[in-house]
Parts: sequence; C-alpha cells; structure tokens
Amino acid sequence: MTRTDVRYVSTRGGMAPQPFSETLLEGLAPDGGLAVPAQLPSVDAETLEGWRALTYPQLAAEVLGLFATDIPREDLARMTAAAYADFPDEVVPLRSIGGGITLVGLSEGPTLAFKDMAMQFLGQALSHVLERKDQVLNIVGATSGDTGSAAEHALRGKERVSVFMLSPQGRMSPFQRAQMYSLDDANVHNIAVAGVFDDCQNLVKRLSGDLDFKHAHRLGAVNSINLGRIAAQAVYYFWAWLRVTDAVEPEFRRGFEVSFAVPSGNFGNILSGFYAKGMGVPIRRLVLAANENNVLDEFFRTGVYRPRSAADTYATSSPSMDISKASNLERFIHELVGRDPRRVADFFRAIDEQGFVDLSAEQPRFDAEFGIVSGTSTHADRLATIRAVHEASGELIDPHTADGVKVARDHLEPDVPMLVLETAKPQKFAETIREATGIELELSPELRGMLDAPQHVTEMVDDEQALREFIAAHALH
Ligand SMILES: *Cc1c(COP(=O)(O)O)cnc(C)c1O
Repeated sequence: MTRTDVRYVSTRGGMAPQPFSETLLEGLAPDGGLAVPAQLPSVDAETLEGWRALTYPQLAAEVLGLFATDIPREDLARMTAAAYADFPDEVVPLRSIGGGITLVGLSEGPTLAFKDMAMQFLGQALSHVLERKDQVLNIVGATSGDTGSAAEHALRGKERVSVFMLSPQGRMSPFQRAQMYSLDDANVHNIAVAGVFDDCQNLVKRLSGDLDFKHAHRLGAVNSINLGRIAAQAVYYFWAWLRVTDAVEPEFRRGFEVSFAVPSGNFGNILSGFYAKGMGVPIRRLVLAANENNVLDEFFRTGVYRPRSAADTYATSSPSMDISKASNLERFIHELVGRDPRRVADFFRAIDEQGFVDLSAEQPRFDAEFGIVSGTSTHADRLATIRAVHEASGELIDPHTADGVKVARDHLEPDVPMLVLETAKPQKFAETIREATGIELELSPELRGMLDAPQHVTEMVDDEQALREFIAAHALH
C-alpha cells in the first residue's frame, strides 16, 4: 500500500493544511478549531489481514504511519517500540468476563490508566520533532489527576521538554498526588494551586492566550485535543479487532463485526474508535458510556446538546468522566455537518447564544450512519457491576470500566462480540472497590514505595503573575 500524504486542517476552516508533526506542537488551531485530517486514511481488508502477525508496537507504527506521513516509518517503529517497552509483552491484553463481554486492557502503563497508551507515544514523538527542528518545548497543563500524571511519566527525563503541571491543592486522591509529586526529575514541575481544577485550567488558558508570552517561553500543550493522542488511541481498536478475529475461522474474518463500549469524558477515546471505524476496522457499534455527568448520553439519545457548567458537574466515583463539555465532540460535529466549517461555527455560536443546540432531526443518523449509541451508569450501577463481574468471573474492574460494562450490557446483540475498554486499574480506586465488594486491594511493593516517597511540589496562590514568574524562571529556552 502506498502512503498518501495526509495533511491536517481546522474544523473551523481557518488553518492552512499542516503536516502531522506540526499539529503535535500546537493546542487549538489558530482559528479556535481543532486539527482534523483533511482526508481520513483508509485500510483495506487485505492490508488489515496482513497486520495479523504484528506485535503491538509494530502495528502501532503501521497505523500511526497512516497519520504521520511526514515522519519516516523506521523512526515511527523506533518510537512505538520505546513507548511500549515497559508494558507487558502483549501491551494490550484481552480477557473475557463472560456474558459475551471481553475487556480490552489499556491500563498496563506506568500510571495504571489508558492515558498512558497515547501519552507514551506522544513523549517519543515530541522528542523526535523537537530534535529535528532543534527546538525545546515547555508543556503547561492543568490536571484533576490522570492526564497530568500520564504526561509527567511520559515526559520525565526528556531533554528538550519540560512539564509544568497545575493541580488543585488538596483535591486529588493520595494515589494521584503520589503518582505526580513523587517524581524528582529536573524537567517536571508540579504546581499545586490554591483553588479547584477550573482555576488551574483558567490560569493555563490565560497564559497560552498571551501569544507573546507563549512564544517567548515556547509553551505547548498535551491536552486531550492533541491529535497525536487521538491517532495513538486508534491503534488499539485495530489490535482488539485482530485479536478477537484470531478465534474466527479465516474465511469468516473479513468484515467480521465487533462492538466497543467506551467509558467517556472528553470524547477523545471514542473519537479514536470513530476514526478507526472510518479507516476500515469492521466496527458495528461504538457504545458511549457516561456517568451521572451525562451530557453526551443526552446528546446521542435525543440530538439535543446542552453542555453544563462546572457548578452543575457532579463529583462522582468515576471521576475521570466528570466532564460536562467534551472538547473532542467538535471533531464529530465536523463529520456530522459534512465537514462544513461554517456549520461547525454555527453549532458553537448557538451554544454561546442560547446554551444548547437541537439536532434532533439528525439524531437517527448517529446510529444509522455512524454506529454511535449511548447510555448512562450511576454510582449504584458501578457498585452492582463491580460486584457482579467479580462474582461471575473473579475479575476486579475499576469504576470507569464498570460504567462501560453496565452500558455495554444494555447494548448487547447476538453474535456480535462486545469489547469494553478497560480505562483504569482497580488499584487506583481502592475505596470504591471496597464499597462494592468488601475487598481490600493489596498494593504492589512498587506502588507502596511510590505512596511513601518524598513529594516534590510547589504550592502557589491562584495568581497569574506568580505563575508567569515561576515559568519564566524554570522554563527551557
Ligand atoms: C480520561 C479517562 C476517561 C475518559 O476518556 P475520554 O477520552 O476523555 O473520553 C475514562 N476513564 C478513565 C480512567 C480516564 O482516565
């Protein structure tokens, strides 16, 4: 198969086509939109079949090579090998929990959550691009826990990158705090802000909105809209399909459909599945699982999109899904409106003006054309699901994965394997596991060591000037 050059444009239409590596360094496109491939690469059934014997890093180099057409293939292969070197051999193990459901294990990385899958690749890719351009980059981000730790673990010790990660003082779990603050690498800067997550996020937005400051100090971002993350996440949909069809008679493999249930927050993970489906992976349905913060479930069920404010967002026992304004949804809307940037802009203008958009006339297309359906899972559902899965299979699943299993069960179809993405390990959420099952999870000696290690964090008031001074003094230049 030939590699056609893929370029990236903005969902709002105001960006000259860019190569993949440029989109890695930028956050939002200059017009406020998100970078999307001008044309989604495609994989025919024969090529897909030809990838069956590849290891995960080899497969990742193939799939990422379709997006990153400006990075030499042998460099990509080296990067994916390095990114997943410390994972178990399979990298992404699959295991059945009975009842037609198989878990796709995405939490084998250093922070025990699926964000490592993309972040480990992004760490390699950023280093590569910066080396080639002879530049440095200072990543500034805000985290409520998972994204920040995955970013720090992926970027620690990298020569041309430093990380400034803002987190809300006293609002992360002891485990999440330890995962970030126990790092003692010189290029990792933890900043605990006296405030909530939104305060951290606002500080970051104000700094990166000041283009003079941003360019003077070479600021960048690795947030969930980063296209490198979306592309790296598409890989495991290919992998999971190949592993499920290993068990299917060869003559029935071509076009054999499976469904995926995806515990969702910012719509990043499921968007990657949407791209994988568009590229040619035989996916029947993508089942979006929401927790009580179910803006997206409401949208996919009714066609009415009504984002909620931070004040109307509940703190739940699947905290990484406590999001009421999913930034990656814009990339789906872009497809829905036929890639017309004016209609994308209209959509967001309507939200600004009236607080919601009514696309109920389009709603039947969500399933019929794109295969996306959805459901909501509550705290009681999580507890019942964790308990039921443990009783039936002996497996312990984390609360986010439990949301996925609950909603997956409501969408099972005969003869269609249902794959649930396991987005975190239960050890990260020991309290909910105890509440559901009475089981006290043992931490490995390594994790115990991490919890007991000295912590490195700078406490800061919620003040833009203080942050500017800190970054100016510690940034790579
Ligand atoms: C980030 C996260 C999610 C949500 O993923 P999105 O890409 O934001 O939809 C789900 N589960 C866990 C454990 C996460 O860390």
